Amino acid sequence: MLTCDDYLTPVTLGEAFDAMENHRGVYRLVAGATDILPWAREGRAGDVHIPVLIDIAGIPELNVREVAGGNVRLGAATRFQRFLDDKTLAAALPLMPFCAVWFADDQIRESATIGGNLVNASPAADGTPALLAHDARVVLSSRKAGKIVQRTMPLSEFATGPSNTMLAADEILVEVQCPALPKHGGAFEKVGHRRSLVISTVCVAALVEIDATGERFADVKLAVAGIGPVPRRMTAIEEALKTKALSSAILEDAADSAGDLVASRTRQDYRREVVRGFVLRALINAALRAGASTKLISREFEAKYA
Ligand SMILES: Cc1cc2nc3c(=O)[nH]c(=O)nc-3n(C[C@H](O)[C@H](O)[C@H](O)COP(=O)(O)OP(=O)(O)OC[C@H]3O[C@@H](n4cnc5c(N)ncnc54)[C@H](O)[C@@H]3O)c2cc1C
Repeated sequence: MLTCDDYLTPVTLGEAFDAMENHRGVYRLVAGATDILPWAREGRAGDVHIPVLIDIAGIPELNVREVAGGNVRLGAATRFQRFLDDKTLAAALPLMPFCAVWFADDQIRESATIGGNLVNASPAADGTPALLAHDARVVLSSRKAGKIVQRTMPLSEFATGPSNTMLAADEILVEVQCPALPKHGGAFEKVGHRRSLVISTVCVAALVEIDATGERFADVKLAVAGIGPVPRRMTAIEEALKTKALSSAILEDAADSAGDLVASRTRQDYRREVVRGFVLRALINAALRAGASTKLISREFEAKYA
């Protein structure tokens, strides 16, 4: 069980940094607590006592939600449920609703934050590959000599290994920024060990744009989690797809090469097979949602990987 002596709820970034400075070495930040609480139980960390928990979920900067000028700003405390019930957000980030629908259940989605998902840095987190495919950047904030400062980096550089990120001890992940991609079609595929409330073993995120002819990819963004220490983009496959006319054969070639990226130590053959099928299915679904000609992706081919 997780216990604490003090549970602090700062309402400004300044108050949060005060709390972090006053309790240096004995605090832990918390947002939705959907990773921290299940971690502190028998079979994982066991009983854990953290003297001070600092709940940052109510800070306004972490709750920004804005689509403007071709860009999307998402406060780190944005809950996964928002990708399902905020239509403006869903239109600007067309992959995220497909990620959210696979994410836990209604109750967890109302608490689980994108910031907690990224900072927890699970090799199989769902939010990370989805936001990687959306070319996300993360904004990290700290207080230096009394002044609140920020640094920004691509999400692709944020996670450095399982449970490890570039976040410094005195920093808060404040915001995630992505380009709005309203013309792209999105898809998210996931498999795990259980039938319900599945944590991914492998998941694949796809975002594609189809050109005006309906016959060629104008853009392809593919990311995968669960096949190595950190979620990653499949850039070589993305580039290969962008050069060719859309056909069942090029989608199958892309899926074949995706299997070679599996770097996990366990269940390699299984993961290769799953990644192959997921890349195919994600590309088909994303392409059809982006307006690909159904002449090029036949009903039979679609049905084979549905
Ligand atoms: C039943 C169940 C089902 C789940 N299903 C899924 C699933 O389908 N897919 C999936 O990916 N995950 C799943 N999870 C895991 C979890 O819900 C997510 O990882 C969630 O996004 C974590 O967010 P949180 O706000 O709850 O994190 P918290 O538990 O509050 O925090 C997690 C970590 O991040 C740190 N942190 C949080 N926010 C910040 C911030 N802004 N700045 C700096 N540090 C921060 C905390 O200190 C802590 O170390 C599930 C969990 C449960 C209990």
